[in-house]
Amino acid sequence: MSDSITEGNSRKLDHSIFDADIHGQSMNMVYLVRIFNWIGPHKKLALFSISLVISASILAVLLPVVISRVVIDGIIVGEPDLLLPDFGMNALNDWLAGLTGWQSIFSACTIFGVFIICCHTFYHLHRITFARTVLHSLRDMRLDLFSHMEHRPSSFYDRVAVGRIMTRITNDVQALFELLMGLGMLIGEFVPFFIALVFMLAIDVKLTLYLLMAIPIFAVITYFFRMTTRRVYRQIRNTVSQLNQNLQENLSGMQVVQLSNREDKNLSVYRDINKDNQAHEIHAIYLETGYGAFMDNMVNMALAVIIWFGGGSAMQDAISLGSVILFTQFVDMFIRPIRVLGMQYNVLFRAMASAERIFQALDWHEQIKEPKHPAILPERIKGKLEFRNLSFGYDSQQVLNDVSFTVQPGEKLAVVGPTGSGKSTLIRLLGRFYDFNDETIFLDDIDLNTIPSHEVRSRIGVVLQDFHIFSGSILDNIMLGNPGITRQKAIDAAKIVHANRFIEALPMGYDEPLVERGQNLSQGERQLLAFARVLAADPEILVLDEATASIDTETEQLIQDALKQIMQHRTSILIAHRLQTIAEADRILVLKHGALKELGSHDELMALKGVYYTLNQLQFQDVSTSPGE
Ligand code: ADP
Repeated sequence: MSDSITEGNSRKLDHSIFDADIHGQSMNMVYLVRIFNWIGPHKKLALFSISLVISASILAVLLPVVISRVVIDGIIVGEPDLLLPDFGMNALNDWLAGLTGWQSIFSACTIFGVFIICCHTFYHLHRITFARTVLHSLRDMRLDLFSHMEHRPSSFYDRVAVGRIMTRITNDVQALFELLMGLGMLIGEFVPFFIALVFMLAIDVKLTLYLLMAIPIFAVITYFFRMTTRRVYRQIRNTVSQLNQNLQENLSGMQVVQLSNREDKNLSVYRDINKDNQAHEIHAIYLETGYGAFMDNMVNMALAVIIWFGGGSAMQDAISLGSVILFTQFVDMFIRPIRVLGMQYNVLFRAMASAERIFQALDWHEQIKEPKHPAILPERIKGKLEFRNLSFGYDSQQVLNDVSFTVQPGEKLAVVGPTGSGKSTLIRLLGRFYDFNDETIFLDDIDLNTIPSHEVRSRIGVVLQDFHIFSGSILDNIMLGNPGITRQKAIDAAKIVHANRFIEALPMGYDEPLVERGQNLSQGERQLLAFARVLAADPEILVLDEATASIDTETEQLIQDALKQIMQHRTSILIAHRLQTIAEADRILVLKHGALKELGSHDELMALKGVYYTLNQLQFQDVSTSPGE
């Protein structure tokens, strides 16, 4: 289905998925069926849970039968109406009394006690097994979503804010949890309803029909009530989010607020929203309590009808007294499902919007082109890179224009150019983060597009400017779960890039836990760790975007030395910002407006007195030593 979505359409979809608020929409059976795909693997547990609720419901309906038919009609009144069904309860009681020699009233109470214990135990087990089914299914769904998002390309993340996907996935999966648990609750209410209905029709059709007539009235009232509360609850949500937003803006901009003496004004804005919120909350409470009282009264009215009609019939011996009492017990079973449906109404419909967003996210199949007939690379490649008439744009605008150059095995090429000239783009294409035209980049004379992306990434080590730290130990961050990297290999790599100095000074050394985003590491230390990570992975080609942050001279020296180590015997492409790094390169490539302007050694380019010469004069004038000196 989504394979047929065109690129243009999918872009539009994307924004609707992640920008839309939950407004609630109609019940969509397609989504429900899709949700059941995740329940499928746990269907045994689900069926067991449903059989438990059916058993519990049968017992719940039999309990009043024991009281009315056996105790009242059979024992107290002593005139069991043999024409009316008792579902075998009198026979069961006679059998138990005969077997044990107990008085009938005692054996009837024993049956009642056993039924009630079994009934509640079954309900309890049903709730546990149902919750387990739902939790297992949602665990699988969350995993599927995570793995789906892992395989979306960078172009996807350029368009969609990551925070948005995150909150949507967590909130929407939570909404589905509520939906499924709500469905479970409805099953737990409607099963007894239908079983009670069958029992009541078997006992007295006319009285059952009187009761059934009340149901559409309850349903219509509940429907209109929920429509009203839905609006009020939306107003409450709106005012709560306004309160939060207002508070957040004020707290984070407190200095500006105080400098401009806006405290009173802002307080009055906050007071107004707060007042609105309170008014809507009170409105909701009035509605809810009003509805509760109304429904309670309706239940009692239904009881009055039963006593009026049923009592009259009992006096004329048309039905037994036990039957009238039985019906009064069933009234609650009739009304409860409608009340619960009303309670779950908003949850169910809001969850539909969440389900829609989850499925649209799962239907997004945009991915990096993978070769149909992948090229097989030898165990060790030479490491020659060639760019042949490479042109590229993220969207309609060209970022790289007809770029052609070759990097020989083992050669070190520095890429320089003004900001926005396309240097990082060049690196991103080498990491296969975006699709580019076939036969424009070659690795050892093999078209890069014919090599599977995971293979490309294991041969070309890319060090990005922003070194991403995952929560875990230092060693975890060097090894990144790669089974080919042993602990010793990771430690050796850290030593070669001089990262061992700061690591060994940490309280737990290589096992020191790192906070996510690495706040407990300095810029220079992060850079060294990034080098250790790439060296441990031992790729044949190194592509590096040099960090621009200023680092103290001593660390700078360590970094330069580490860089020299990792570039050894390795084809390297460096986006260089430091003169010293450029000095390490065999050749320098100058990009401007996405086009290759100059390519040659430092001396050659200086002699040209072109872009490199100007850049050199402007950017590097504060560096005292120049290459070659
Ligand atoms: P440099 O690394 O030389 O500063 P970049 O390769 O980052 O330049 O960017 C080159 C051009 O591509 C810039 O005009 C930038 O705005 C644009 N660009 C970079 N990344 C993206 C992206 N993900 N989506 C759209 N345009 C981008």
